[in-house]
Amino acid sequence: MPASNRDPQASTASAGRWSIARRFFLTSFILIVAQSALSLAISGKLWKDFTSLYLDSVLSRQVLRPLNLVDNQLDLLTAQEAMECCTKKDYKNFLSEIALADGKAVMISGSAGLVPGQGAESLYTSQQLSDFAKLATSNVSRFALVDYGTDRAVAVKSVNLSGGSETGALIYIRPIYNMSLFITLSRIRFLSEIVLMLSLVVLLAIALTYILRPMRSVRSRLSNIQLDNLDTALIPLNGQPVELQPILTEFNRMVQRLETSAQNQKQFASTISHEFRTPLTVISGFIQSVLNRAQDLDSRYRESLLIADKEAFRLNRMLSDLLDLSRADNHQFKVLREPFDCILSCREALRLSQFAFPSNIIRLDDSGLEESIWAIGDPDRLVKCLENLIGNAVKYSEPKSLIELDIVLKDQQVLFSVQDHGQGIPDDQQTRIFERFVRADGVSLRRGETSSGLGLSIVKMLMEGMGGSVSVQSEVGVGSRFILALQRSMS
Ligand code: ADP
Repeated sequence: MPASNRDPQASTASAGRWSIARRFFLTSFILIVAQSALSLAISGKLWKDFTSLYLDSVLSRQVLRPLNLVDNQLDLLTAQEAMECCTKKDYKNFLSEIALADGKAVMISGSAGLVPGQGAESLYTSQQLSDFAKLATSNVSRFALVDYGTDRAVAVKSVNLSGGSETGALIYIRPIYNMSLFITLSRIRFLSEIVLMLSLVVLLAIALTYILRPMRSVRSRLSNIQLDNLDTALIPLNGQPVELQPILTEFNRMVQRLETSAQNQKQFASTISHEFRTPLTVISGFIQSVLNRAQDLDSRYRESLLIADKEAFRLNRMLSDLLDLSRADNHQFKVLREPFDCILSCREALRLSQFAFPSNIIRLDDSGLEESIWAIGDPDRLVKCLENLIGNAVKYSEPKSLIELDIVLKDQQVLFSVQDHGQGIPDDQQTRIFERFVRADGVSLRRGETSSGLGLSIVKMLMEGMGGSVSVQSEVGVGSRFILALQRSMS
């Protein structure tokens, strides 16, 4: 049976809705990713342009010398001769004049077909050479970067020969030995963008945590506010962010109004209980005296008087609960905190309850326990708490059901539990039921029983007055176990 401290309303309200922080985070995240993608694309394009421009200019410079050599040869010919001369052999002759080092190669693509120079023939296959030529001549810039494996990339530049388009184009091939450097630089550029993006996201998360910190502290203060600690509920505005201040000002005003109204309510309850008690005692006294003296009373009148007496007793009990609570509110309620034999108190509560609820089976399992166990508290108040819990167990279970009392020693505490096999209490109601006048939704009263919603708040007040506590474990349809805890005493 799990104990529950969750706030059902908060969880229902937040379910399916996104907090402002989450929305802000998501929007910023999308913006950061979009910005990074855009900047990657732009820098990628710039990088590509830069690489090709750089290589193009290097090649253009390098191509000038061989081009001049070929042009010098061609200059000796007339246009007609130039057009006619350009057989494969002629071109081979031109190309043999051009000495190239470092794997660089040159070839001519023209009317005589593709004519490779010496280096080109030995370095590249004829398929590669024709691919290079096609790529270079088809590009507007007449430049191509052909990467067919790290450090096997080549830059290709095509330049028209001065003899005219019929003469052909000189194609210059240059291996790029530093291609791996280009690739590494390109990867670094990519990685640095990603690292920058991730750092921004992390910074955003840290900033959000920092921004939301005041809200969290306000929220934790708010969640601790109860009707009985309204006087400490005001939230100081000093040090709070400017955006929160108007909300907190309104909140503080509301707390003050609530406090005044709670004070009036308490005052009202206290006055009513005082004022009602005396006439009620008189009424009870007269009913008792009639019942005791009028022996020959008609049975129907006797029955009515017995009901009136029972109701007067119930009313009296409720007024005394209300008075106790209002005394506690005014700090006039005395609860002892001294060592006492709590086994005796349990037995007393058992005896009184068995007398009050004869049709139920109420059991105390004290086997295996020492003859006396000492706890710090008030013996009479513990009896009252146990009586209240047993009374509830009876009220919210089937008639004649079993109710079990248990005493357990745990660490430095004595735990008293009252277990029933009744309706159980829904999870989301389990913290509320200790508040005044609160009845759990989804729990119904047995016919003929009455409820004020005060019993558990009295138990809580008395247990806290003794330095102890009360808690509940409950499962709907299985039953409830209320646990009272007092500090153990060794004397
Ligand atoms: P009352 O019983 O007079 O209404 P209490 O303060 O004793 O007031 O209890 C508050 C509410 O807690 C009850 O109205 C009931 O809904 C729920 N409750 C208390 N004890 C039990 C129990 N043993 N089983 C089921 N519900 C319980």
